[in-house]
Amino acid sequence: RVQMRVATAGLGAGSVERVIHLIDRTTSHAAERARVDFVANASHELRTPLAAILGFIETLDDEKAGSDAEVRGRFLGVMFKEARRMQRLIDDLISLSRIEAEKYQLPETAVELPTLIEEVAGELRDEAGARRADLILKLDDDIPDISADRAQISQVLHNLIGNAYKYGRAPVTLSLTHEGPLIRLSVTDQGEGILPEHLPRLTERFYRVDSGRSRSLGGTGLGLAIVKHIVERHRGRLEIVSKMGVGTTVSILLPPAPSSTVTKPSQN
Ligand code: ADP
Repeated sequence: RVQMRVATAGLGAGSVERVIHLIDRTTSHAAERARVDFVANASHELRTPLAAILGFIETLDDEKAGSDAEVRGRFLGVMFKEARRMQRLIDDLISLSRIEAEKYQLPETAVELPTLIEEVAGELRDEAGARRADLILKLDDDIPDISADRAQISQVLHNLIGNAYKYGRAPVTLSLTHEGPLIRLSVTDQGEGILPEHLPRLTERFYRVDSGRSRSLGGTGLGLAIVKHIVERHRGRLEIVSKMGVGTTVSILLPPAPSSTVTKPSQN
């Protein structure tokens, strides 16, 4: 709105309309470009594993290769891995479009962050098994509830802790602290860090520092884009601080719930 006021100062009514029209067109061109890029990237990301699967099916169809149990087992293993990659990508695409559709709908359920964090940490420890001791929780007392979509905040935790394990090095520390009127939730790893020039682009869809490494670790390139959208929907913000050779801290800052407007979820 401020931009519009500056742009239209001193112009007659007709010119104002033209300026507004121009601004609209510029915005819609950028949005259209982003949409085209997104569709091209998503198609490419899906086509690569699909091509691999089709190639292996064709080879297995060949009588000689298909009848060798060892070769068949190995090929099926690769096909399974590629199919899982497509599944993860489709799940992330669905999450992203769902979150975008809900952008203007404020979540209204009271969520106790410490309880949710303990729950997610438990799930991750079960999955990780031997890495049980590698996730350290530091939770301040008296953290107020937030007004949130519980499943979405859980997804944020999964994505951030998942990245810390994938790209960083254990132990991973998750801390929850007061920061003025806001609540800060941080995930810190002791990995090799991220070069400063990459930091502003990490939340772009399909942006990766090292594509080969991300793919081989099961990354879709959408994890931080999903986190950013969820945090914005919750009127919060995302911060990434990294030091080469020391590690990375990804934080989200969220406002506490306005106590009068939220509803407690039923306990069942
Ligand atoms: P991906 O699915 O590839 O993990 P993300 O959107 O979650 O995608 O992250 C984007 C990129 O940011 C990753 O590919 C990786 O290069 C980098 N990244 C994210 N988290 C970390 C971290 N904790 N340490 C180092 N690099 C990271």
